[in-house]
Amino acid sequence: MEKQQVVTRFAPSPTGKFQLGNARTALFNYLFARHNNGRFLLRIEDTDRARSSDEYVKDISESLLWLGLTWDNRNNEHYQSKRLAEYQKIAHKLVTLGHAYEQEGAIFFKVNSSGKEEETITFTDLIHGKVATKLAHIEDFVILKSDNYPTFHLAVVVDDNDMGVTHVIRGDDHLSNTPKHILLYRALGWPMPHWGHLPLILNKDKTKMSKRKDPVSVRDDFMRKGYLPEALVNYLALLGWNPKTNEEFFRLDELVKIFNLKNSQKSNAVFDIEKLQHFNSHYLRKIPLAQIANTVAPTIKEKLHLKEIDNTYLQKVCALSVERAKTMADLSEEIDYFFLSPKLNYDDIVFRSSTLEKTILGLTNALKKLEALSKKNWETTAELRKCLDSAVNTGGLGNGDVFWPVRYALSGAINSPKPEELLYVLGKDESLRRIRVVLDLLQ
Ligand code: GLU
Repeated sequence: MEKQQVVTRFAPSPTGKFQLGNARTALFNYLFARHNNGRFLLRIEDTDRARSSDEYVKDISESLLWLGLTWDNRNNEHYQSKRLAEYQKIAHKLVTLGHAYEQEGAIFFKVNSSGKEEETITFTDLIHGKVATKLAHIEDFVILKSDNYPTFHLAVVVDDNDMGVTHVIRGDDHLSNTPKHILLYRALGWPMPHWGHLPLILNKDKTKMSKRKDPVSVRDDFMRKGYLPEALVNYLALLGWNPKTNEEFFRLDELVKIFNLKNSQKSNAVFDIEKLQHFNSHYLRKIPLAQIANTVAPTIKEKLHLKEIDNTYLQKVCALSVERAKTMADLSEEIDYFFLSPKLNYDDIVFRSSTLEKTILGLTNALKKLEALSKKNWETTAELRKCLDSAVNTGGLGNGDVFWPVRYALSGAINSPKPEELLYVLGKDESLRRIRVVLDLLQ
């Protein structure tokens, strides 16, 4: 028999912002489908009329596209709100078949009242293994409400069947719904899909992540905060799945090749922002500098009210900051002094263990040596460093008498890159000018 094509779906309800947990569910469905040359579909579960909104639908599709999780029914997405007649038809069919009954305008599916209370529903979950539920633990449940809208249970089953979904992969919060869905499939005589329930994503203290206080919105807390989609995809894949190798960096196409549900974990996963930042720094360093510069230029221009920024110069600045940055947003932080004269605080010029005299001597020495250095030698940080070392050695000074005030003169910052790196990026003319300004202040 020909092997059936795998079909998965991501079925969010557009009743809130697209969250980390949604992204992880979508990712696993995408990876499973693509790995098996199958189809990955998007279904919008918008039957909650009061809470659903177009704005959230937009957030879902923009976030998925940003992550690179393209779905196969693009521009022809499945909307539950457009299929009410279908759900109504099936609900009434279940009544006709004797599996459901009407009460106070709603239609209930028979479980407890079916006379089979002693039976157990068993299924093999792709992640949890065997799961068994006694029918006695399940109450009769509504499938069609008195306003003629379906409940989640009915709509999910009808749609998964119509869409040919072969693997239902969703969050653990749905594990307890699955026996109900199995009962519906059985009553309707439809072929059963496979089920896989993914562990929840929790905070470090094992509490549930909350919309109000935790970073969960993919758009607001990650996309707009300068995180890269590659980093989020990589990190989310490893939240609940084990590649069984020592390698930890995987891009989406690499994940597609090696993904399988077998290596998913059953226990809840813990979200660790520092771990995500570790992935983000990795991918940030892989982006060509010209692209980084183009991305951050508008933010820096706006922030510092600059008309133009020289792109080559900005690339040099970025090359320096990218080493310490965790996100793209960090690249426009603490860089003001590369574009504007530093704001100096007189009390910070002299290093803790130094004195005014020694600092003046240190800066004067450095200035002389740097003035004498040809512009060509200015092209490598090694030469600049040598120059500063010799300024220390002339006159029996300590590093703090030279390195600190030079660095401070150039940046006006307590924490900044090394002085030779600042000299290199700022260039000879500007560096010397800044050192002279400080010497004038001190004398
Ligand atoms: N709409 C459901 C949710 O957002 C998902 C249903 C499912 O995957 O079966 O939780």
